[in-house]
Amino acid sequence: MNGDSVDIDLARTWVRATAAAVDKHKDHLTQLDSAIGDADHGINMHRGFSAATAVLADFEPETVGAVLFKTGTTLISSVGGASGPLYGSAFRAMGKALDAATADTEQFAAALAAGLESVQKLGAAAPGDKTMIDAYAPALAAFRQHAGAGADFAAAALAAADAAEEGMRATTPMQARKGRASYLGARSIGHQDPGATSTALIFRTLAETVEAR
Ligand code: ADP
Ligand code: MG
Repeated sequence: MNGDSVDIDLARTWVRATAAAVDKHKDHLTQLDSAIGDADHGINMHRGFSAATAVLADFEPETVGAVLFKTGTTLISSVGGASGPLYGSAFRAMGKALDAATADTEQFAAALAAGLESVQKLGAAAPGDKTMIDAYAPALAAFRQHAGAGADFAAAALAAADAAEEGMRATTPMQARKGRASYLGARSIGHQDPGATSTALIFRTLAETVEAR
């Protein structure tokens, strides 16, 4: 693998590292969801990514996409909450877009875009609705901008992680218009969105996984 691409091993390591990160932050994610949801986001994310890690352990993929597609399918089948199908569709769409043994920065940017499109198609949320989209959309924009400017994969992933965290923090003053938190109306204001927080964690984990290789 060179510094400008992702391979099958790195994709698998990303999913495994996400499971570990989610495990570490499980209580925080659940605490955020207890303020504006039903207190299960940490549990949902942990269940989904642990299941994906287990499934990937004896899976022999031939493409980067197969790793991500399998992850998505497992998230959908193992998570009951809204986030399972949403993240599941994102990973499946990313997977479909990556049909080779490696993916360069431009190809990965296109896959991330397909993932976001899939979440929006399924959940019908727009930026500003206080959802995972508020972390995902700025992360994609930053990744794309860096990829387009010729940055290497690590730099693009780092910029995406920073943008996702900024987007995550920006959800606090928003009023939720989608998902369970929207039932609270104005009372959802003043709390950081759990799904935007897990999205930021997924992008931070990507940056760290790429950095550590
Ligand atoms: P549930 O809401 O079913 O309990 P989770 O707690 O696992 O599921 O996930 C909640 C998160 O899912 C929210 O914080 C939000 O970011 C995200 N979410 C909910 N509905 C949507 C939607 N329609 N589009 C995008 N993201 C959504
Ligand atoms: Mg919940």
